[in-house]
Amino acid sequence: MVMNEIRTIAVVGAGTMGNGIAHVAARSGYRVLLCDIAQNLVDRGLGTIEKNLAREVAKEKITRSQAEEARFRITAVLDREGLSECDFALEAATERFEVKREIFRDLDRILRPGVILATNTSSISITKLAAQTSRPAQVIGMHFFNPVPIMQLVEVIRGLQTLQETYDSVHRLAVRLGKTPVEVNDAAGFVSNRVLMPLINEAIFAVMEGVATAEAVDQIFQLGMAHPMGPLTLADFIGLDVCLDIMRVLEQGIGDPKYRPCPLLVRMVDAGWLGRKSGKGFYAYS
Ligand code: NAD
Repeated sequence: MVMNEIRTIAVVGAGTMGNGIAHVAARSGYRVLLCDIAQNLVDRGLGTIEKNLAREVAKEKITRSQAEEARFRITAVLDREGLSECDFALEAATERFEVKREIFRDLDRILRPGVILATNTSSISITKLAAQTSRPAQVIGMHFFNPVPIMQLVEVIRGLQTLQETYDSVHRLAVRLGKTPVEVNDAAGFVSNRVLMPLINEAIFAVMEGVATAEAVDQIFQLGMAHPMGPLTLADFIGLDVCLDIMRVLEQGIGDPKYRPCPLLVRMVDAGWLGRKSGKGFYAYS
């Protein structure tokens, strides 16, 4: 049995992805409870939402009153007990299993039976997270892409025990959020990162081995394959530490040496060259 009528959505984690998901849900008419571990973190998430809604008004995608109504639908929650009335929960907290395990166990205790517990994880096993709860049939991956208000895709990931009803409900929700859901099964990196990260990793090998410069590699993908940005520009945007973590998840999860992280990627992360966020990666940022 899953909760079919979804009116109130809890979003746990108000960072990059959480505030984007809260924004899209509120704009689509849902009431949103946005939860994080400290007031300043929720405030930062709300500030980003306000800025992004204002940008949509400026671009005439929504009206000023639609933006105000969307903002009004979002309530900040610090005490998780305050999420007990939600009809759907989506976890978008830090990408560490221990963090998510604690949240899943707690939400499983707090939420009513039948309420779906979804995760926005990029790489952690849905099946393993589901096993932390008493409702594995109602646990599912709902993987949004950054920036959430703009990117069309939601990868919907079935765990081993996910019910068809749960899948159907998440599929409908994604469509109501204006997104396009694509179904995949639970495996390391799902499809998006399983295919994208080895591409980025191989591009880094090409640079390390002196096959081409970073600029040349990126140009080849932009001009020859019509990618909007080359793999190394994209790696800088994602964060080289995140790319390395995901390669390690693929290497361990699939167990094939073809997922070995490129030594240059490891060295750059060791040096603190993490891409855009640190000011230096394959390119310099001011
Ligand atoms: P982020 O660091 O911007 O935000 C994470 C937020 O979670 C922070 O505000 C943090 O305070 C909060 N948090 C940590 N522990 C918490 C707890 N116990 N309870 C409530 N909140 C807690 O990270 P992000 O980029 O938004 O990533 C969130 C999730 O989305 C991760 O699982 C990540 O893998 C996934 N994801 C990220 C991207 C991306 O491009 N950034 C894309 C797709 C999926």
